[in-house]
Amino acid sequence: MTSPTAPTAPLTQLSDDENMFRQAVRDFAEAEVAPLVHDMDAKAQFDRALLPKFAELGLFGIDVPERFGGAGGTFFMSVLAVEELSRVDASTSVLVDVHNTLAIVAVQQFGSEALQARYLPRLAAGEVGAYALSEANSGSDAFALECRAEPRGDDWVLNGQKLWITNGNEADLFVVFATVDPAKGYKGITGFMVERGTAGFTVGKKEDKLGLRASSTTELIFENCVIPGGNVIGEIGKGYKAAIETLNAGRIGIGAQMVGIAQGALDATLKYVGERKQFGRAIGEFQGVQFQLAQAWTELQAARLLVYNAARLRDAGQSHMLEGAMAKLYASQAAEHITSLCVDLYGGYGFTKEYPVEKYYRDAKIGTIYEGTSNMQLQTIAKAILKLTS
Ligand SMILES: Cc1cc2nc3c(=O)[nH]c(=O)nc-3n(C[C@H](O)[C@H](O)[C@H](O)COP(=O)(O)OP(=O)(O)OC[C@H]3O[C@@H](n4cnc5c(N)ncnc54)[C@H](O)[C@@H]3O)c2cc1C
Repeated sequence: MTSPTAPTAPLTQLSDDENMFRQAVRDFAEAEVAPLVHDMDAKAQFDRALLPKFAELGLFGIDVPERFGGAGGTFFMSVLAVEELSRVDASTSVLVDVHNTLAIVAVQQFGSEALQARYLPRLAAGEVGAYALSEANSGSDAFALECRAEPRGDDWVLNGQKLWITNGNEADLFVVFATVDPAKGYKGITGFMVERGTAGFTVGKKEDKLGLRASSTTELIFENCVIPGGNVIGEIGKGYKAAIETLNAGRIGIGAQMVGIAQGALDATLKYVGERKQFGRAIGEFQGVQFQLAQAWTELQAARLLVYNAARLRDAGQSHMLEGAMAKLYASQAAEHITSLCVDLYGGYGFTKEYPVEKYYRDAKIGTIYEGTSNMQLQTIAKAILKLTS
C-alpha cells in the first residue's frame, strides 16, 4: 500500500489505493447491502449472509498488518468504509465500525505480541469483534463499572453484566472491561479478551431500538466465567487507558458513520426535489429549498473535513483526542439536522417507510449518544482547549 496522501494534499484528496477501496465498498454497499436494508430494518435483524462478503472485501481487518492476515491498509480506510456503508445502511456500518475501530484497535494498540498473534488473524478472517465497556449503572461515568475480575491461579474469573453491547449477537470475540479491585477506582480497570462459548458467558436480552434496528445491541452476562491470564489486554489496572484511547479512535468512526448517513439522506433528497412538483414547478426550483440544501451540503462537508482530519492525524501517529471529539460532536449534530431537513423536504412522504429518509433520520439519532454523549465530547474539548490556552 502507498501512503495515503502527501502531507500538503487537500484532506479530501484520496490516494489511488483509497479511491479504489472506497469505490469497491460503495459498489458492494449498493449491490449487496441496499436490497436487504428495508427488510433488515423492519425485522430488526442483521442478515448474516453479509458476513462472508465483508470478509471477502477485506472489511474485517482493514488496517491489520498483512502478517496477521489483514488488508494492511490505514485507519483512514476504515473511516472510508464506514462512511460508504453508512450511506446505504448504518446498521451494517456499525458492525464493521465497532469491529475495526474499537475491538481491533484495542488488540493492536494494547495487546501483547502473543495476544495480537492469537486474535488479529481471527478478527481479520471474519470472527466479529465487540467492545464491552458500558453497564447499567455506568455510561458516561464509564469507570464506575462494577463487572468484577478476580484472580484464580493464572486465570481470572469474571462476574457481572454489560449493557448496550453492539454486535452482541454476531460477535465471536469480545473486548471486555472489568475491575480487578473496586477500591482502586479507575486504576483497577482491566481489559480482557473473551471468546463466545466460554463457560459462564452468555449473551442476554437484545434491545428494541428507535434506529440502527438491524444492529444487535445486547446484554452480556458473566457468571464465574474463567478467562486465561494470557487474555488480559495490556497491563492489569491500565484498562482505563486502553478504554479511553480506543474510544479516541472509535469516535472518528462514529463521525464517519454520521457523515455517511447524512450523505445518503441528501443524495436521495437532491433527486427528490428535482422530481416533486408543487405550484407547477419542481420544489428544488424554489430558492427557499435551494438555500436549505446549500446549508446542509456545507455542514456535511465541514463534518467530513473534521472526520478526515482526525483520521489522518491518527495515521500520522499524532494526537487526535481533541480532533476526534470535535469530529464526532459536530458530525452527529450535522447528521441530525440534515436528516431532519431531508424528512421535511420529502413532505408527508418523508414521514413514511416507503421512502428512505425516515430511516436515515432515526439512524442519525444515536450519533449524539454512543461512544460518549455530546456533553461528554464537549467536556473533552473544553478540557483540551482550556489546557491549551492556560
Ligand atoms: C445503540 C447503542 C449501542 C451501544 N453500543 C455500545 C458498545 O458497543 N459498547 C459499549 O460499551 N457501550 C455501548 N453503548 C452505550 C453508550 O456508549 C452509552 O449509552 C453512552 O455512553 C451514554 O451512557 P448512558 O446511556 O448511561 O447515559 P448517561 O451517562 O446516564 O447520560 C444521560 C444524560 O446525562 C448526561 N450527563 C451525564 N453525565 C454528565 C455530566 N457529567 N455532565 C453533563 N451531562 C452529563 C449525558 O450527556 C446524557 O445526556 C451503546 C448504546 C446504544 C444506545
